[in-house]
Order: sequence, then structure tokens, then C-alpha cells
Amino acid sequence: MDEPFIEEITKEPLTIDHLLKVIAETNPKADLEFIRLAYEFAEHAHEGQKRKTGEAYIIHPLAAAIILAHMQMDQSIIITALLHDVPEDTSVTLEDIEKNFGKDIAEVVAGITKLGKLKYRGVERYIENLRKMFVAVANDVRVMIVKFADRLHNLTTLEALPPKKQYRIALESLEIYAPIANRLGMGDMKGRLEDAAFRYVYPKEYRWVVSLVKERYAAYEEYLGFAKETVEKELRSANVPFIEIQSRMKRLYSVYQKLLKHDRDIEKLHDLIALRIVVPTVADCYATLGTIHKLWRPLKGRIKDYIAQPKPNGYQSLHTTVFGENGRIVEFQIRTQQMHEEAEYGIAAHWHYDERGSAIPTKRLAWIQELAELQKNLIHKIKDLDALKIDVFQNRIFVFTPKGDVIDLPEAATPVDFAYAIHSDIGNTATGARVNEQVMSLSHELKSGDVIEILVDKRRKGPSADWLKFVKTHHAKECIRQHAKKGIASWIMERFRSTDVG
Ligand code: MN
Repeated sequence: MDEPFIEEITKEPLTIDHLLKVIAETNPKADLEFIRLAYEFAEHAHEGQKRKTGEAYIIHPLAAAIILAHMQMDQSIIITALLHDVPEDTSVTLEDIEKNFGKDIAEVVAGITKLGKLKYRGVERYIENLRKMFVAVANDVRVMIVKFADRLHNLTTLEALPPKKQYRIALESLEIYAPIANRLGMGDMKGRLEDAAFRYVYPKEYRWVVSLVKERYAAYEEYLGFAKETVEKELRSANVPFIEIQSRMKRLYSVYQKLLKHDRDIEKLHDLIALRIVVPTVADCYATLGTIHKLWRPLKGRIKDYIAQPKPNGYQSLHTTVFGENGRIVEFQIRTQQMHEEAEYGIAAHWHYDERGSAIPTKRLAWIQELAELQKNLIHKIKDLDALKIDVFQNRIFVFTPKGDVIDLPEAATPVDFAYAIHSDIGNTATGARVNEQVMSLSHELKSGDVIEILVDKRRKGPSADWLKFVKTHHAKECIRQHAKKGIASWIMERFRSTDVG
């Protein structure tokens, strides 16, 4: 019944020839012979192994590689995907991989193998898993990129597993993988992971959403074809250039999330479908908007100029919702090619929000913005492999609040730096710290992956000037100094007052 909603990879032939064909189309400079070699190496290593579905094991790494090839990923990522399960499941070792494919590829495969050993063990282990994954990302973002493709394909073959395992893997995908993909700005990957997991985690709700959107989407499909033609014709006669017009249907899990916020009433969702118009210049964006409004009447209050006023995460587009033919409501999104790529690959993803929707100050996620930039570069096939290794992380550490929020700090930062990074009140009233559940001094040197809880005493008057001897962040220093100044000022004031009185 849900034919239109199956994950794309399940519609493709999972063969090496198909993989090479996709790569040839998307990355003409790739060394196809080397990739074929990696395939043969993996096929040989997995020889005789079967997946739970009964297929030959090699189908799985091949599927992961095809998913990544469509994303125009770098050759090293494709090869890593082909080899990703070799050291885990076969007698071929990481040393063998290094000998044949070099240290760089062997290191990424090692990272994936390590991550593969993590299992979802309920909410109490959620934070720990998240923590390890972030640290993995900090080491080499390619590890996570391959892991996403690996997981996405596994989600499409869950049928072969016992229900309990299906649920565990799907829940882990929804709670850990999709939020990380989201934070990395990989909006498309996030949506695919969510939709593939949705039916296993919330089967009833999944069927409900499918039943709500199925006919609507089918009806819209026909209508959108018509609307697209009309717009094309109008743009041509008005001499407004455009690059392409695509339609997009809102993904099932996003529809579900939005329904929960709107009284479970599908009629209140006006962005189920949208037409995206990609044009050459900003001026063309406004000309296109005018052309559309000449054709159809816009809904009041639904014209949004995110070009003049970008969203906080940098997203830019013009949005308008119009009453189309027969009063049908359609949303249009108008943007330049560059705005479009940013929206697809990072900048526009909602990563200034955490996965539960509450705001996290953007500056704390600055490093994720850098990751998203790298991700974009990846898509632009920048050849420099070292660029993928995130030297933006040099001299930075990643530590966690007990709730799992990531805070990035300079190397050798202390609990005081951490406390001030969260809030000046916490810094000002800090009395001690628990690092990985052990009580530590406020001058303790933090390491990547630490989970830190600050112990506070509300009655504490303020920070100690001694802290200036060990804090590392400019922000903490500023806070402590300011407080000291204020402290002296009030001390003088008090003196003054007491002499006055006396
Ligand atoms: Mn795998």
C-alpha cells in the first residue's frame, strides 16, 4: 500500500556495474578501476556470507556505496563504504586493508568498525552513544557519512530480522542517527533515515499518516504537473530565466511531526507539497515571485522574504503560498542555485535547534556549521583529502552536558570554562564539578568526550580571582574580570556608605 514511500535505494539494481555507472555520471574524475578493485576485494572477503535476507553479503556494502555515489561523494568514501564491514565480519584484517588501499582508507574503516560495536541499549545509554558518535565525527566526518549510508540500507532490509531487533535498530536511527544527520546539515539524509525508521517505531501512526497523504499526494502529483507547465509558460513569456522547477512532497515523518503540532488536522498543513523554482540571480527570484502572483492570488501573511531577511541559520529563499487552479493551495519556494545547494546540504537545516526543537544558542554549534561547510565542499568534490580531516578541530575538544548537549572548548579547558560556556550564573556560582561522575577540582583539565556536571552554590558571592590562573576561554576570563570589577566597586560603595553613616 505504501509503494510511493519506499526508500529510493530499494528501487535500484545493486550491482557493481550500476555503481560504476552512477559514479561515472556524478564524478567523471573517479578512478573506476580502483573502485572495481575495492569491490572485488570486499566480495572475495565476504565470499560465502549471506545476509539475513538470504542475499549475498556484498549486496549490502554495494548498496551503501550506491547511496553515497548518488550524493556525489568523494572516491575515498565510496571505497570505504565497499570495505566497511570487512574487518568486522571476515578474516581479512585492517592491516590487509591498509596494505592494499593505504592508511587513509584503513583509518576510516577502523572508525566505522569501532562505531559498529555500539548498540542501542535504551534511553540511559542514548547520551553515551551520542557522545561517542560526536567524537567520531570530530575525528573524521567520513566515518559518519558512511555510517549513515550503512544504516539507511540496513533499515530497508529490517523485514528479515526479529521484531525486537527491528524496533531497536529503527529507534536508534530515529533518536541518534537522524538528529546527528540533522545537526550536520544533511537534511536529505535525515529525512530518509526518519522515513525508513518511522514504520517500525510507530507502525500505527505510520499507517495513519500514509492514509492521510496517499490520495492527496496522488491528486497533487497530477495537479503539480499542470501548475509547473503554467508557470513555465508564464515565465517564458515574461522573459524571466529559470534553471529548473521541481516539486517536493513533504516527507512522512515530517508530516507526522507537524500533525502533532496542529491538532492532528491535515487541513492545517499548507506545505504538504511545494514547487521549487531555481533561478540564476536574486533579481530573477523577485521577478519570478511577481509572475506567480500575477497568475494566482497569494494567501495573506504567507509571503516570506528570506532573501532580504535570512533565517538565523542562513537559509535564503522567497516563499509564497497561493490559491491555485480550483482554489488548490500550493506553496512556492524560489531561490538561486547557490541558495538551493545550501538548503540541501547544510546551511538551511534546522541545526540551530536541537532534535527536540528547543533552541540551542547558535554560537555553541559553530563547529557544526564548519562541518556543514565541509560537507558542502565534499559535494563540490574538492579533491584535497586533508580538507576532509577537519583541521578546524585542531586544538578543540568536545565535551557534553549531562543532557547530551555538545560544548566545544579549547584544548586543556577546565570545568570553569565549561560552566561559563553554559551560562554566566553557573560560572559565578560554581563550587565544583563532576567529570564522568567523578568529583574533580575546578582546575581539572577536560578531555574530548567528558560529561560534565557543574556543582553550584547559589549563595556563592561570585567567582574567585584565582580562577584566572587556569581558565582557557576568553569568555570565562571576561566574566571573572567583570565580576571582580563589580566586586571592588560594591566594596568601595559599601565602605563609602559605612563611613558616611559613621
Ligand atoms: Mn554494514
